[in-house]
Amino acid sequence: MEKKWPGLPYYPISQFYTNHFGGKVYKIPVSVVDNCPNRMGLKGMETCIFCDIWGSAAKSESLTMPLDEQITKYHQVIEKKYKAKYFLIYFQAYTNTFTKISQLRDNFSKALEYPFVKGLVVGTRPDCLSPAVFKLWTEFHEKSFVAVELGVQSFFDDQLQFLKRGHTRAQSIEALHKISQNTPVDLGIHLMFGLPNETDERIIETAEIINHLPISNVKLHNLHVLKHTPLEQLYLAGEFTPIEKEEYARKVKLFLQHLSPRVAVHRLAALSSRREELVAPAWTGNKMETHQFIVNALRSDGSYQSQYYHPQSDQDHVASLNLQKQASPYTLQNNIEP
Ligand code: SF4
Repeated sequence: MEKKWPGLPYYPISQFYTNHFGGKVYKIPVSVVDNCPNRMGLKGMETCIFCDIWGSAAKSESLTMPLDEQITKYHQVIEKKYKAKYFLIYFQAYTNTFTKISQLRDNFSKALEYPFVKGLVVGTRPDCLSPAVFKLWTEFHEKSFVAVELGVQSFFDDQLQFLKRGHTRAQSIEALHKISQNTPVDLGIHLMFGLPNETDERIIETAEIINHLPISNVKLHNLHVLKHTPLEQLYLAGEFTPIEKEEYARKVKLFLQHLSPRVAVHRLAALSSRREELVAPAWTGNKMETHQFIVNALRSDGSYQSQYYHPQSDQDHVASLNLQKQASPYTLQNNIEP
């Protein structure tokens, strides 16, 4: 099976990029917004319990830098380190559609002025979408690669409530279908494992839900504790215990075994961008060691992505995509706009 994905027992996003762009592509993470509906407390929402003050930005200093400065600085660093040629600008921190359309358009245009930039990646939430955002993504898709990463985190409402996400499973699924119906963008989701009430049945159901959704990729995180977050308070009070590395690897393996081979995987576990901010578990601080541990767990008994996946699901998926493309106009419920 590793022949299918050279050197790895799962379909890595790097393979997807190589197929799409003809070479390795690196992401430059940038910050252009500084808030989100949760942090603003709109509609009674609260900050997600795991989120630090940087809104999950990879580079905290980016928040005070103009976009062109961020692109120039991080391009130089990544180009030198990896001898990289192609880049995607990743609008990562906070909620990137929670701002004015004119502002978004200016930022997208500015990013595409750089000859080494091959596309845009936009991170957002399931409840911060609008017809105007869809139109903008479609407009930019005509001149560039555009990918959207939706913070879904879990498909179980009790877990979403624990995380204080402020949206439901139904909203996530509706949002993914609406993006697929109304735009041509490449679509992916972020997921978290290591949550309360997480059973093996739920892990398998999560993979099966994804197999039937119009998405092409998934990014995996283990729920971990950062300083000055609501989760830190729960952890210090003994009300949350981070998942152990072995158990997390077992769950990732189970998930991948049931995941369709057409879904690319960005990463297998969370990264800790700021080591000094990490409270627990300590193993989250060692990116490469954790990655290799999970890969080894898969290889130890010949496990691989799609091992228990039933091809019938893909036919269902294609059929459902065709139906969705003919569906009605955008009607997301309870949507939030700035
Ligand atoms: S994770 Fe995203 S939506 Fe949640 S509080 Fe942080 S920036 Fe806001």
